[in-house]
Amino acid sequence: MKQCPNFKKCGGCQYLDMPYEEQLKKKHKEVSQLLKNFCKVHPVVGMEDPYHYRNKVHAVFGRDRKGKIISGVYKEGTHTILPVDVCLIENEKADAIIKTVRELLPSFKMKVYDEDTGFGFLRHVLIRTAHKTGEIMVVLVTASPVFPSKNNFVKALRKVHPEITTVVQNVNNRGTSMVLGDKEQVLYGPGFIVDELCGKKFRISSKSFYQINPIQTEKLYDLAIKAAKLTGKETVVDAYCGIGTIGIAASAGAKEVIGVELNKDAVRDAGTNAKMNKVNNIRFYNNDAGKFMVQMASQGAKADVVFLDPPRSGSTEEFINAVAILGPERVVYVSCGPDTLARDLGWFKKKGYEAEEAWAVDMFPMTAHTEAVVSLKKVRKK
Ligand code: SAH
Repeated sequence: MKQCPNFKKCGGCQYLDMPYEEQLKKKHKEVSQLLKNFCKVHPVVGMEDPYHYRNKVHAVFGRDRKGKIISGVYKEGTHTILPVDVCLIENEKADAIIKTVRELLPSFKMKVYDEDTGFGFLRHVLIRTAHKTGEIMVVLVTASPVFPSKNNFVKALRKVHPEITTVVQNVNNRGTSMVLGDKEQVLYGPGFIVDELCGKKFRISSKSFYQINPIQTEKLYDLAIKAAKLTGKETVVDAYCGIGTIGIAASAGAKEVIGVELNKDAVRDAGTNAKMNKVNNIRFYNNDAGKFMVQMASQGAKADVVFLDPPRSGSTEEFINAVAILGPERVVYVSCGPDTLARDLGWFKKKGYEAEEAWAVDMFPMTAHTEAVVSLKKVRKK
């Protein structure tokens, strides 16, 4: 077991002091308990090296009481910044880049933002790294759009870290706790990074959702796609599709795929991803997944397989009722929130969909979170 100086203060890694094997057992017990009325859960698929897996790293910038510039995370439940230099679950290069940004600030006379007064410039730094390709995106979140020595700053940063492939300035002048604002300006490179999953390439922009543990994501998608038992003849829905990862990875085994996602940027990336991978049998729609399914159902459309991968808050009764009207043979539910998964499986059951098998995948080692895949089958009424 590794030690972290910020354990407990940061609150990010609830299980850091628990041997990894025990973490996996505990997660298995929890998911099995939640799903006990539905189906059996296979043992949790763990990681060989359960550290430094996070490909997305965020640091908030500010000053300590003595006025020294610090960067790190908000102490759990507060707006006090806990300084963090290294983290056991974050990508190590990303941590090093954040440290360099901090060290460069004084020589560029760049002020950090003060949440109380609203003065200052740099608010957050977000780093996204691509596991397979090594590409790295740095997002500098600033309070105002005017960035006086931006080119020199980028040059200085890239001199220390030539592995950075793109730098984006994101402007957030709001007083909310949201990290990213709406306006963006690319300072260097293409403004996105490309990573590979399941043999496909994916373009990731600053705001689009991308699974934070790429090694485990491949295992998760493989399980989900196997559970769909595709033969090449199916019309498949990929709901809550993000940048289209599951649908694109599954497309070769299906007749056609329809993806739906609420986030505009993610849908745009999904379209680009399909082209980049020369996938021609997939279409993406920008809509609320529930509303979209209701529309599909009211138009008399059919689907053979529905994948859904909703956020932690789970899906909705509206969505599940519409799925029942569409009447797919199989539903594959990918979930990062086992509680809402259990609730939704109850709704599915009422609508004639029974859970067959569940797999848990440890996407978030050292934390209390677990990811799960459940295969459901339409039950014929006798
Ligand atoms: N399947 C993708 C994304 C899963 S994360 C992947 O594996 O990468 C959940 C996604 O649901 C996010 O992209 C989020 O933007 C999207 N989302 C959240 N609420 C939604 C809604 N009501 N309708 C459609 N998509 C939604």
